[in-house]
Amino acid sequence: MRVLVISDIHANYVALEAVVQDAQDEYDRVWCLGDVVGYGPQPNECVAYVREHAAICVMGNHDWAVLGRPGIDIHDFNPVAREAVLWTRQQLSEEHRHFLEGLPAEPIHPPETSEVLVTHASPREPVWEYILTPGIALENFLCFDDPICLVGHTHKPAIFQWRVDPGDEGTGTVTVEALLPAIGTPLLLDVGPTHRLILNPGSVGQPRDNDPRAAYALLDLEAMTWEQRRVSYPVELTQSLMRSAGLPRRLIDRLSYGW
Ligand code: ZN
Repeated sequence: MRVLVISDIHANYVALEAVVQDAQDEYDRVWCLGDVVGYGPQPNECVAYVREHAAICVMGNHDWAVLGRPGIDIHDFNPVAREAVLWTRQQLSEEHRHFLEGLPAEPIHPPETSEVLVTHASPREPVWEYILTPGIALENFLCFDDPICLVGHTHKPAIFQWRVDPGDEGTGTVTVEALLPAIGTPLLLDVGPTHRLILNPGSVGQPRDNDPRAAYALLDLEAMTWEQRRVSYPVELTQSLMRSAGLPRRLIDRLSYGW
């Protein structure tokens, strides 16, 4: 079973199409880690894709904000993100809104495996927390038992490895290390009781690691490998759609820099 893992599409359908094209014939399932909408110009197209093709999808903070659910104040968003949320609310069709409403806001196990936990942000705070450092990853490893947890939300590809080195008296020492995701080279997933992983595929529609290319990953559940991918897409096409939609200039410009 090979899984195309996508996250933080953010209504950038041009980027999503490039990802799907790039991964063509290399996967059997699609898992989506949330934030299907927000920021970008084609929310309906992106929700339609996820609804039709993704075996699972979890609730992202932008999906949540667009729904206007209790528990979120969109004034906590920065002004340009807020503007995009309000614009998206107006655009989203009733059936797509209904689809987003059904997304789980808690970590879930995909039906294909019991080894992997899937959440948008973190196991501890499924919709909100950014796992950006080994310290925050360590605190989150204490909140789940599964060998692997997939997260998105930061828009930065990442691998955090948890290791327990057994001590002399049986008192293990825990270390959490950030490994560098190597693009295009499958990483063998070394997991078990003493080795666990938090994996982040990065963002399809709004990367924030100074690389404007769309990010995604391929997870092979038989070979137990994780391959980080990047693919170029016509950024200017998304930008011109955003301009026509009247979306904020800052959101348009940042796609050129991958930030
Ligand atoms: Zn996001």
